[in-house]
Amino acid sequence: MASRKSSARKVADCRAFPSEKDCSLTVAGTEDEVMKVAVRHAVNEHGHKNTPKLRRDIRSMLKDE
Ligand SMILES: [Zn+2]
Repeated sequence: MASRKSSARKVADCRAFPSEKDCSLTVAGTEDEVMKVAVRHAVNEHGHKNTPKLRRDIRSMLKDE
C-alpha cells in the first residue's frame, strides 16, 4: 500500500449528523476509510440516498482526530 504515513486520522461522529435516530456511532480512520463506512452507514442505517450531496455533507463534518 502506498498510503501516506502522515495522513491524519479523521473522525465522523454520527451525533453531529442530522438524523431521526438516536445514533451515537463514531467512525475513525483515514478520510477514505471514514467516508466509505460513514456513507454506507448513512444509507443502510439512516435511509439516506447515496448522492454526491450526502458525501459532501459527510465529508464536511469530518473532524481531525
Ligand atoms: Zn448513525
